[in-house]
Amino acid sequence: MDIRNCKECGKLFQYDGISKLCYQCRRRDDEDFKKVKEYVYDHPGANITIVSEETEVSEDKILRYLREGKLEIVGESPGLVLDCERCGKAIRTGRYCEECSREIERGLKSGFDRFAKKREKFREKDKMYITEIKKKR
Ligand SMILES: [Zn+2]
Ligand SMILES: [Zn+2]
Repeated sequence: MDIRNCKECGKLFQYDGISKLCYQCRRRDDEDFKKVKEYVYDHPGANITIVSEETEVSEDKILRYLREGKLEIVGESPGLVLDCERCGKAIRTGRYCEECSREIERGLKSGFDRFAKKREKFREKDKMYITEIKKKR
């Protein structure tokens, strides 16, 4: 049995391998999330401060929902902005903008890329060899 401290209230609870919150906090978290989600959908241009005040859910929590990709900024919401953790560009959900997530994905694959490049180099050598022969003619 895995007993841990709840990240929200610090109480001990049985960890299920999924949530870092105890049962009560998780339930409250779900309710908060629902409230925020409904409010944001009903008030598409709402500022995060207003959303927080109206729903009584902390801004940190709302930002967390956005970062987790649970909540998405709908429509044009100039007040409710989230920025890419890498380049600072405004995004609607998650942690990174499309470009950065693509680049990060590419970075993860760089191990494979290096291998592919090595093979490419061999091929380039062949090409060079061929062009040199052509030049000599
Ligand atoms: Zn708790
Ligand atoms: Zn970015």
